[in-house]
Amino acid sequence: MTFDPETATFLIAGPVRIHPRVLRAMSTPSLNHRGDYFHGLVAEIRQLLPILFGPAGRTVILSGSGTAGLEAMYAGLVPKEGRTLVLTNGNFGERTDEIVRRYSTNVTTLTAPWGQHIPIDAARAELDKGDVHAVCVVHNETSVGLANDLSQLAPAVRKSGALFLVDGISALAGIPVPVSDWGIDAVVAGSQKGLAAPAGLSLVHLSERAMKALHPGTFYLDLASHLKSLDKNDTPWTPAVPLFLALREALLVLQEESLEGRLARTHRLATASRDAVKALGLELFPDPRYASDTVTAVRNPDGLDDAKLRKALEREYNVLVQGGQGALAGKIFRIGHMGIADWPDLLVTFAALERILGKAGRLPRPGAALSAIVAQMP
Ligand code: PLP
Repeated sequence: MTFDPETATFLIAGPVRIHPRVLRAMSTPSLNHRGDYFHGLVAEIRQLLPILFGPAGRTVILSGSGTAGLEAMYAGLVPKEGRTLVLTNGNFGERTDEIVRRYSTNVTTLTAPWGQHIPIDAARAELDKGDVHAVCVVHNETSVGLANDLSQLAPAVRKSGALFLVDGISALAGIPVPVSDWGIDAVVAGSQKGLAAPAGLSLVHLSERAMKALHPGTFYLDLASHLKSLDKNDTPWTPAVPLFLALREALLVLQEESLEGRLARTHRLATASRDAVKALGLELFPDPRYASDTVTAVRNPDGLDDAKLRKALEREYNVLVQGGQGALAGKIFRIGHMGIADWPDLLVTFAALERILGKAGRLPRPGAALSAIVAQMP
């Protein structure tokens, strides 16, 4: 077998596999983005978005990848005066810090080692000082396969009165994000993760309080301008029309499954992946208590580097998983199992991993990983 992008088993940590219905939805002639059809499309998307974010607040749809949504959120909501607290424990946390520091000179960053939970006690201590105006955190740290437990942080943020700004890019439609219960003021989703739409749109969901707190940041990504246009089911600048068509279809696919159904299936796929990793004799990278349900990060076994493992998966078995980022390049590999990923994807991936490890004489219990997956199947 050789790599073929049209037929590959595709389990990178986003973009994810896209339903053929969603792909077909984009194959239309050009639309007038100031015409009735497009306005109707935006109206429909707006009606569907509460599936993801709940009934309160409003959601801006930006043409641009997840980082565009993050930049819009931080540029518009990180206070110009007053202290901002950033919590990091991975590559995307570090990027949060970088973006936030473009918009404020008064930033305190609390860092945990990559793969460990964000430092909750230290964050509470900072919040108790009473001068923090915004808290910025990545919910699901895709780079290390770890879901930060924001229920531990939310009450302290709420008590402090600070704005709670969350990167939910690989969390939404993959793990529960109770936006109102946790008092989240702004949260960003990316189209290419749990929603299983193509890359290129970001969704920024804002609470009433956040909408009042918005200040001008960037021009193109100015959330107030986008909200104003949204009132008329419009966008301030020319939108990525085919991606809006894809987003509507992806939301309809999600509605048919229900959010609860998707979260439950994703959780089951994650449990099966973790059990199978163990059965292969391999080790998870993050603290297992906080292992993410949308992406499983695994340490490369000694002597089996990226070329021998991940590249062999791709070249010999037509299976795509993702490598590590930054300092973790070559040290871990990551299996994304969000969106419409399903049991056949896991079975093929772990069968190929068994074969590669078996050929290297490194498979402790042949068949055990596949049995672990079968045991979790409905
Ligand atoms: N934040 C998180 C948690 C992510 O997983 C990603 C992408 O993988 C990003 C931010 C960046 O998003 P994008 O690459 O869509 O701009």
